[in-house]
Amino acid sequence: MTKTILYIILPCYNEEEIINQTFEELIGVYNKLWKKELISQESRIVFVDDGSSDETWNKILTLKEKSDTVLAIKLAQNVGHQNAILAGLLTYKDQADCCITIDADLQDDITVIETMVKKYQEGNEIVYGVRNKRVTDTFFKKQTALAFYKLMKIMGVNIIFNHADYRLASGKALNELAKFKEVNLFLRSMFPLLGFKTTEVYYDRLKRIGGNTKFSLKKMLSFSLDGITSFSIVPLRLITFLGLSIFFFSLLFIVYAIYSYLVLNTIKGWASTALPIYFLGGIQLFCVGIIGEYIGKIYKEVKQRPRYIVEKTI
Ligand code: UDP
Ligand code: MG
Repeated sequence: MTKTILYIILPCYNEEEIINQTFEELIGVYNKLWKKELISQESRIVFVDDGSSDETWNKILTLKEKSDTVLAIKLAQNVGHQNAILAGLLTYKDQADCCITIDADLQDDITVIETMVKKYQEGNEIVYGVRNKRVTDTFFKKQTALAFYKLMKIMGVNIIFNHADYRLASGKALNELAKFKEVNLFLRSMFPLLGFKTTEVYYDRLKRIGGNTKFSLKKMLSFSLDGITSFSIVPLRLITFLGLSIFFFSLLFIVYAIYSYLVLNTIKGWASTALPIYFLGGIQLFCVGIIGEYIGKIYKEVKQRPRYIVEKTI
């Protein structure tokens, strides 16, 4: 078996407290895999500094001086976790046989890197890391995460349950990913669009090795909203259904209004006031929905996502 050139990519934002420990632990895994002849010595650990304002970058530079295994990218400013990951992947996709992305806080169990590499060597182009249980997450985080995945499914977004951004992707998969030109990144749903032979590995989510989370509740909510609006036009379609339902309800209401007028002797002017509100409201929403359908089409067109992906030509 030829040895795999593996690049491990870590987005780092203000991680000065943990960067050294992260490196020590990863280099341990690296040496183990190298001794087992699973990965080649050309494999690298890539730190992507996402515009940190603390000592993160200087610490990365010190690591780089100590070890040839380290590569580093410094982004000009903070552009967020997703963009930082993509920067790492696209910069090095041609040098590596495959890349693994993992958070710098090592909350995702690094012992499964070995399994990921083996799955790649068995012919999988993408290996998704999936969280088994969330023992270290708070009740609130667990429940909101669960609600998030359910909502995404309802909205018709292709998402792998309990998979975040811990994954292995082959150079071939990354070359295809590079053809996706969208700016609103939601990588965990973009990879499933690629197809190819894929598999999952399971692990337990651990505690941060140090420092604090960079994702506030506000950031999480805006990230989920980004996920839905980057992958689904279901919200637009809901407007159409809402409008149609109100419209049909108003038709029933007309029958009731005529009946009340003739039989129940209601106050004068009631039917002629109440009816148009529902009727026009329904029609207006329905029309907004139709416009939404066209906006949905434009939205899909401007993304210019590839229409198909060739796995093999013979
Ligand atoms: N991160 C980043 N840019 C940001 C925010 C976070 O590169 O703007 C990195 C961060 O350094 C970490 C990873 O993304 O390596 C995940 O962040 P964090 O652990 O804070 O998220 P959580 O695990 O709490 O969801
Ligand atoms: Mg984390």
